[in-house]
Amino acid sequence: AVPVITIDGPSGVGKGTLSRKLAQHLGWHFLDSGALYRILALAAQRRGVADQDEAGLARLADALAIRFEEGSDASAEIFVDGERVTNAIRADEVGAFASRIAVLPQVRAALLERQRRFRQPPGLVADGRDMGTVVFPDATLKIFLTASVEERARRRQKQLREHGVSVNLHEISRDIEARDNRDRTRAVAPLKPAADAKVLDTSGQSVEKSFDELRSLVEA
Ligand code: C5P
Repeated sequence: AVPVITIDGPSGVGKGTLSRKLAQHLGWHFLDSGALYRILALAAQRRGVADQDEAGLARLADALAIRFEEGSDASAEIFVDGERVTNAIRADEVGAFASRIAVLPQVRAALLERQRRFRQPPGLVADGRDMGTVVFPDATLKIFLTASVEERARRRQKQLREHGVSVNLHEISRDIEARDNRDRTRAVAPLKPAADAKVLDTSGQSVEKSFDELRSLVEA
């Protein structure tokens, strides 16, 4: 089977950065599964499909033509029905909508096969919440990243500042905890480490330090 490394964890733990870096380092494909939930959220918002319309959302998920154009640095341009949505899906409202529809079993089922199709030679690094538990249970290596809420809130604040948005730390923490809670307590594919996952805490660490630790797990 084609090897897969899964990297799961809550938002703001540095998952995106670390897993992209790892994919680039190995020369493997990269799956940003959160982007699929965001793409569906954006499409639903634009077409007026409600966040509770489970069957409608599942139909929409099946109908969307999604294309990831992998760049040389594991970054990707994302196209939906021919339109570039790389930046649009990063909006906060889209993330919040994505987190609400991610609790719906039919939505998760509709995205399952699409995610598995990313498993192509020479290998795949898959980033998400349920990569090791549900989507790739037979993964070669499963990593679960954690970091304190304060740390994740600070990182998020810095990110937002870089985009010219100023939000206070308290508000960001509240938002992060709400989203985590929804991810952790949902009935289907709740956010949790797979039984055979290696847990890595990135609190207080530079990206370089965390990446070194990640690499030693991969090379072990
Ligand atoms: O990781 P990102 O913030 O882009 O994901 C957006 C939302 O999609 C998350 O808040 C989560 O609720 C959902 N998601 C999920 N399962 C995944 C990836 C993302 O439920 N594998």
